[in-house]
Amino acid sequence: MADAPSNTFTLQGSCHCGAVRLTLPSMPETAISCNCSLCRRVGGVWAYYPFGTVTIEGHPENTTDYVWGDKTLRTIRCKHCGSVTHWEPTSGELGARHGVNLNNFDPSLSASVLVRHFDGADTWSFID
Ligand SMILES: [Zn+2]
Repeated sequence: MADAPSNTFTLQGSCHCGAVRLTLPSMPETAISCNCSLCRRVGGVWAYYPFGTVTIEGHPENTTDYVWGDKTLRTIRCKHCGSVTHWEPTSGELGARHGVNLNNFDPSLSASVLVRHFDGADTWSFID
């Protein structure tokens, strides 16, 4: 631990079984924990990137998705182990907002990110 550079983290993560692998383009500065009806069940901690900038291997061949509400995004999970890895815009528009679940990465990465709490269930604002 003492030998590891304190400011570098692996930007690679994967679902539990490894069929879906993600590589972030950069270290996230903040992430969002949301209490909406879906996020509280999924338990995701979301970091945002422009769609198209995160390298995702094993998707879509090893994934399945879920679309709800206003149908603007699809929540993606591994079809083998069920881990929710990310969500992406249903439009597929490059550069649109895209969320990656940091819980699929080394705990030292998410521990170094400021996690903001978002009230997606009610006021649609930050509650921290
Ligand atoms: Zn998996």
